[in-house]
Amino acid sequence: MGFTGAVFSPTDGWTTCDLGHRHWGRAGAAGLLLHRAGEDGPELLLQHRAEWSHHGGTWGTPGGALHLDEGPSEGALREVREELGLTADDVVLGECSVDDHGGWAYTTVLATPARPIDPAGLRLDGESTAVGWIPLTGLDRVPLHPGLAASLPRLLPLL
Ligand SMILES: [Zn+2]
Repeated sequence: MGFTGAVFSPTDGWTTCDLGHRHWGRAGAAGLLLHRAGEDGPELLLQHRAEWSHHGGTWGTPGGALHLDEGPSEGALREVREELGLTADDVVLGECSVDDHGGWAYTTVLATPARPIDPAGLRLDGESTAVGWIPLTGLDRVPLHPGLAASLPRLLPLL
């Protein structure tokens, strides 16, 4: 999302995909799905999106619109740095999963922590109001971002 950084990118803006949705990010978008092994199975690092944001109030992965000439991994790392203060040294990148709508695509970059990540120590930037490790077994108890919810069947086998 384009409101927090000092840099305005020419790829910021709404676009309509071939499926007829409106999406933020003319060059597509990317997010980082951090996952770890928890006591009861995999856990996902999700953030609670601020009410004013698109799909505000839902839980999703940190991410946003790609800049011009920016690859999905690069963009996902930039977003997670802006939104949570995590750097490339904090994570180990894994597979990418592309949700291609035609004319617009969202790339989820999977990653695992390179060090223990305590959500209480993360610096939120205002696009989110909370962040936490959510166990897969508890995903049905929080409102999920519709894009993440739709992608889960594709993402879960990659964890
Ligand atoms: Zn779409």
